[in-house]
Amino acid sequence: MRVLAFLDGTLGDPAQPYIRVDNTGVLRGDGIFETVLVVDGRPRELGPHLDRLARSAAMLDLPEPDLTAWEHAVQQVIDNWDGSPEIAVKLVYTRGSEGDPDAEPFCYALGMDIDDKVKRARAEGIAVVSLDRGFGPEVVERAPWLLLGAKTLSYAVNLAALREAARRGADDVVFTATDGSVLEGPTSTVVLAKGRTLYTPPPTVGILPGTTQRAVFRAAESAGWAVKIENIPADELLTADGLFLVSSVRKVTRVHTLDGTRLADSTAIHRELCDAYEAQY
Ligand code: PLP
Repeated sequence: MRVLAFLDGTLGDPAQPYIRVDNTGVLRGDGIFETVLVVDGRPRELGPHLDRLARSAAMLDLPEPDLTAWEHAVQQVIDNWDGSPEIAVKLVYTRGSEGDPDAEPFCYALGMDIDDKVKRARAEGIAVVSLDRGFGPEVVERAPWLLLGAKTLSYAVNLAALREAARRGADDVVFTATDGSVLEGPTSTVVLAKGRTLYTPPPTVGILPGTTQRAVFRAAESAGWAVKIENIPADELLTADGLFLVSSVRKVTRVHTLDGTRLADSTAIHRELCDAYEAQY
């Protein structure tokens, strides 16, 4: 099932074409997006998602988004949804028509079902490969035009990495930097468990600040875990008590195999983290 809402409060027919062929999002991936999980009619982490949308817009010199209009569009999707209890709502914000100095941004919210593959991964865990992203953390300051940390529509590289993972017989990817530290997944944040402490790399290394990572850390802290945001050397991925990829739609997904090596059994930690994460909503 799909539900399409525009920012002027109107609904669209998701089976009909609306985007112009000269839209910069289509021609160049010039735009931003968010994906918000809705469960039982309630959006999760909507505030942080909208804050990040505004931050991405600023990084791309896009007009400041009207966050109240976006909130209403998400609500429109929820109000017109009569499918399963979970919705992935994509917020898409493109610059508009190429070459038109007065181009209006083209924006919409699209509610979609969650993929069966994602649900299977949540339940059964996944195999991942580590892939070099080809730069070090210093690039963030040296080359801000790379837009590291913005959630842009240019995900061709991320999808290529996922296809490489599939070629290697795995489901997903952990990107590493040239200094050997851990970055993120192509569509997820990396979380490590060692003893009763959770670790994730800081956004300053050139990754997206994850809304789910923040929610998981908040819940875990309340459940007695310590949490640390610091650089993680890639070799720690193999020796941790638990390795997880987290994101709005996949929630907390357990990694059972890394680069062909079976990891320590983290099913109990996974269950505990999932319970804590779910309990806060
Ligand atoms: N990092 C990247 C590159 C992503 O694309 C995503 C989500 O799609 C995340 C991290 C996780 O972000 P969130 O937890 O806010 O969904």
